[in-house]
Parts: sequence; C-alpha cells; structure tokens
Amino acid sequence: MSIKPRVVIIGGGFGGLWAAKALANKPVEVTLIDRKNHHVFQPLLYQVATAVLSPGEIATPIRRIIHHAKNTEVILGEVTGFDTENKKVILDDGTEVAFDYLIVAAGARHAYFGHDDWETSAPGLKTIEDAVEIRRRVLLAFELAERDAYLKGTRRSLNFVIVGGGPTGVELAGAIAGIARQALAKDFMAIDTRDAHVVLFEGSDRVLGTFARDLSESAKSQLEDLGVEVRLNSFVTDIAPGKVKVGEDWIGCDVVLWATGVAASPIGKKLGVATDKAGRVFVEPDLTIPGHKNIFVIGDMASLKQENGEPVPGVSPAAMQMGAATADNILADLKAKDRKNFRYVDKGTMATIGRSKAIADVQGFHFKGFIAWMMWLFLHVFFLIGFRNRIIVLLEWFWAYLTRERSARLITGDANELKNALAFLEGEDAVVAEMQKREEAKQVAR
Ligand SMILES: Cc1cc2nc3c(=O)[nH]c(=O)nc-3n(C[C@H](O)[C@H](O)[C@H](O)COP(=O)(O)OP(=O)(O)OC[C@H]3O[C@@H](n4cnc5c(N)ncnc54)[C@H](O)[C@@H]3O)c2cc1C
Repeated sequence: MSIKPRVVIIGGGFGGLWAAKALANKPVEVTLIDRKNHHVFQPLLYQVATAVLSPGEIATPIRRIIHHAKNTEVILGEVTGFDTENKKVILDDGTEVAFDYLIVAAGARHAYFGHDDWETSAPGLKTIEDAVEIRRRVLLAFELAERDAYLKGTRRSLNFVIVGGGPTGVELAGAIAGIARQALAKDFMAIDTRDAHVVLFEGSDRVLGTFARDLSESAKSQLEDLGVEVRLNSFVTDIAPGKVKVGEDWIGCDVVLWATGVAASPIGKKLGVATDKAGRVFVEPDLTIPGHKNIFVIGDMASLKQENGEPVPGVSPAAMQMGAATADNILADLKAKDRKNFRYVDKGTMATIGRSKAIADVQGFHFKGFIAWMMWLFLHVFFLIGFRNRIIVLLEWFWAYLTRERSARLITGDANELKNALAFLEGEDAVVAEMQKREEAKQVAR
C-alpha cells in the first residue's frame, strides 16, 4: 500500500459521485474514472427529450462538482476490464490504474431482451445523447407532418409509441401528449398537433407496477386524461422502422421509444464473480464482491436483498446511500474499526406523469395529482446538482407552467441528417442501413 491508500472509483453517476464526495479531503488518494466528463441527473432526462430543459441544465462536469476535493483526480476514460489479483483497472487503450480499494459504479442501460438491433428504431433514454436524439425524432415527426400537409396536401395521423409502462415510459408518454396538446398546438398551421396519437404499451396488467395498485390505477387515469392510450397486457414482439408488432398485429408509428428492461454495465461480468440475469453483481452485505474485501460494487450494478427479502431498488437514493456507505466502510478500515452492513432507507417513491399530474408513496401515505406533482418538483430541484442549475430549472418550469411553452425545441443536425431522418421515418432500407452504420461507429467510439 502507498502511504495513503488509493481508491479508484469507476463512474461519476449517483453512486460513484456520492462515494467521491464522502471521501473528499479524507486520508486517501481518489481517482474517479468516467467515460463522460459529466454527471447526468437522469431523473430529468425525459425533460430534455421532450424539449422542456436543455442538456446543460441537467448535466454538470464531474471535475467541477468535486473541484474542492484536493485528494481527487478525475480521469476521462472507459474501463474495459480488471486484474483483481494484481489490483489493477484496465482502460480501453490498455492503460492500467492501480488501486488499494475499488468502487465499481458504472450503472445500467435498458435491455432489448436479445434484440439489440431494435435500438436503431426504438432508442432508449439513458444519456444526454439519447435525450437529444429522442427530442430530434419527436420534433421532426411534427415538422415532417406539417411539411407534407402544407406542400403535398397529405394529412396523416401522427403516432408515437412508447414501449414500457415504468417511470420513464410514463414520463415520456405524458410529456409527448403534453407537447402535442399544449406547447405545439398554436405554432403549427397545416396540421392540428392535438390529433397526435400517443400509445403506451405495457406487458403487465398495470403501469408503474412497483407502486401500490391504487397509485398505478391513478397513474393510468392521469395518463388517459392527457390523451395517452394505455394498452396493458400488450407485449411488443417485434420492431421495424416505422412500425411495431404487438401480439400478431403490426402498428405504424412515426416515433417509437424504448422504456423497458435493465442491463447492468457489462464490466460487472469482468470481475469474475456471479451476476444475476440482468448482469447485476451479487454483493455481500457490505457491498463487496465475494473473496475481495477491497472491491465494492454499488448502485444499479449491485444485486442485494434488503432485510425484508425485497431487492434494493435501482433508484438514485439507493445508489447515493451505497456510495456514502462504501466510503464510510473504507474510512472505518483505515481507523481499524468494524465495517457496517448496508441498509437501504426508503424515504418514499414518486413518479411524474405531466403538468400537475404525479403519484407519490411516502412511508405508506399515498398522494395523487397536484400535491404529488409539487412534491416531485420540490424534490428534483432540491437534488439537482449546482445552484445555478436549480435556479434555471425552477425558472424554466415556472415559465412552462405559466405559458405551456417549451423553450428547448431545437432539432439539431445538418441537412443530410434531416434528409436521413425524413426517410428513416418512412422506413427506407438505405437509410436504415445508414442509421445502423452510425450506431456501429458510435459503439466503436465508445
Ligand atoms: C431516464 C431515467 C430516469 C430515471 N428516473 C429516476 C427517478 O425519477 N428517481 C430515481 O430515484 N431514479 C431514477 N432513475 C434511476 C437512477 O438514475 C439510477 O438508479 C442511478 O443513476 C444509478 O446510479 P449509478 O451510480 O449506479 O449509475 P449511473 O448514475 O448510471 O452512473 C454510471 C456512470 O458510470 C459511467 N460509466 C459507465 N460505464 C463506464 C465504463 N465502462 N467506464 C467508465 N465509466 C463508465 C457512466 O458514464 C455514468 O456516469 C432514472 C434512470 C433513468 C435512465
């Protein structure tokens, strides 16, 4: 061991960042490695995807967030493997970073249940790039319908399909219905954006299935109030450009968004210990992996049961609590004190559906509609990182509430991109190939 033990943290998301904050200026040397230079406040990603907020308002450079931690270096890099015996992390360019303690917090992505090829047609929402791409597709769909109606006189219905009735699917469906009915309605001349059809497909018998049944039912009726068609017990079995298959029927759509399935970061499997079906690493009660008391896996990558037998949920409070608890255990080691087992404290869960619409469960008390929505707003501003972001987001929300306006309605990309997207929405094979080529290039770049 060096004089001060070296703690390497992989991931500057909720878990990694909270561990780094708790280790700031403590008697350890910290190296935080992330493949992005910014921390994303994922709970507000859908607001970037639906043009309420701009990317910079929910993402902050990691280096900036922990600039006061004089013992912490932030490295931009992608971790691809480990040498656990020799205590080294391996980056994609072959560089090795030595550690005394390792905290792996690389998060999770959505899973396509073995159909990764669907991602091109049905993007999911996890990163800023995803959110900007979804925003582009949603706004383009309206622009193209307007263009067709004005130039060719063709009137066709606009269909938006969301796959998955969890929190992200519900947020996206409610927000797209909100855009169509309120924010865009006055700005389009040749089409009536209020005719847009938003359908949410959920495989089980209710949306927001982790909430109590009365809250799920309330969420469904709040969605329906916004004009969303909620189709329960409906599995999407195939996706192709411009259409989705539900059961035996193909349904045409302009935009399809994927909001279901979880796959933990693939680096979990490189640790050489057991993982669950979603790739989450089975961890010990102190969040270490079997056989390695110096290697912790936390946040969405960790699989751990609570005392009541329920799994610790993949939510940001759990990741933050795990990050802080891991830092405490490392510091306890240095003082030769006993480690504490991790205990998740559930302070309540909530989900937003749209303007003045939400549900919340706080210690068994159920809230619906406006009150739940105010609680959701307050909590998200409170936890958003950066004072400036909090003020700006509050102002954006206040403005959007008063005027129903969306201030971030930009379609980015050059003319060729626009042409490709146009044809993509029409399902042309050449363009699909082009999109796949771009996706492959992105994968290589990652
Ligand atoms: C759209 C969306 C909405 C959500 N809404 C809510 C909500 O309302 N409330 C709630 O509690 N939770 C919500 N969640 C879940 C919550 O965001 C996660 O539970 C939480 O982010 C998990 O934290 P984490 O640290 O495990 O992973 P993350 O926060 O995902 O962080 C992982 C970090 O690791 C980095 N990384 C990944 N792989 C590598 C690698 N190989 N090398 C280097 N760096 C890597 C990533 O760039 C990222 O910065 C939402 C999630 C999403 C996607």
